Amino acid sequence: MNTSLLEVKNLSVEYWRGKEKIPALRNISLRLNTQETLGIVGESGSGKSTLALAILRLISSQEGRVTQGEVLWKGKNVLSFSFEEFRKLRGNEIGIVFQDPFSSLNPVHTLGKQIEEAILVHNPCPPKELREKTIELFQRVRLDDAERIYHSYPHQISGGQRQRVLIAMAIANRPELLICDEATTALDVTIQKEILELLLRLQSELKMAILLITHHLGIVAHYSSRVSVLQRGEIVEEGNTQEVLKTPQHAYTQELLSSLVNEPNRRS
Ligand code: ADP
Ligand code: MG
Repeated sequence: MNTSLLEVKNLSVEYWRGKEKIPALRNISLRLNTQETLGIVGESGSGKSTLALAILRLISSQEGRVTQGEVLWKGKNVLSFSFEEFRKLRGNEIGIVFQDPFSSLNPVHTLGKQIEEAILVHNPCPPKELREKTIELFQRVRLDDAERIYHSYPHQISGGQRQRVLIAMAIANRPELLICDEATTALDVTIQKEILELLLRLQSELKMAILLITHHLGIVAHYSSRVSVLQRGEIVEEGNTQEVLKTPQHAYTQELLSSLVNEPNRRS
């Protein structure tokens, strides 16, 4: 049997609020093969970001913990990796794009410098080459005037451009998997579409797999061949996207579908 690129097995996560334990993911399983796109769809609070954070081992022990399960990367459980082993993965083999570029970009450093730092963490590189690589990345994500962007600060460019910079940062080390958590939610509809098309093109150019996390079933319908539907921390339905859309088995999926028909660009 072929090993999947990513396999999540029976994963459960809980947060604590004082003494109370809040289950955020319950017994989640999914798999993603090389170059494939898997959509994760669910309303706000269903556990989508928790899933991304758990895969990337970013759930702070102050806030919560994984209570059971495994996250297998090429067959190896990353939850038991040493810090050093895991460091090679995040930002290198696995890239991530979050919803809010402002919280991911440092306001006091130029965009060029931030991309260069992302490269340097994993791949030592002389200054001249580093600068060339950075300009090339800006061009790859179709940022016009890459030179200007290189010297700009985050507040000096538009929201769509900032999201492109984040994508440039996420792909800087040529990851095999890109996790996109509501990567286009904060953007206007037309910009949203441009960014999704860009992701799709980069996916085929760089041969990446994508975990496409969104509250918007319409996005999943367009951009991913398989989907898992998340409700209150559980996967209630999964399968081929077109089949799930055509004959949704679960009441919650039907609800998501009807909200899509009634309000095509709802935001969370
Ligand atoms: P989504 O990304 O689908 O909106 P989240 O993964 O952010 O959902 O949240 C899932 C559940 O976990 C929600 O009930 C949310 O309130 C709770 N939650 C998320 N982060 C924390 C946290 N740091 N501390 C306590 N509860 C949290
Ligand atoms: Mg979220």
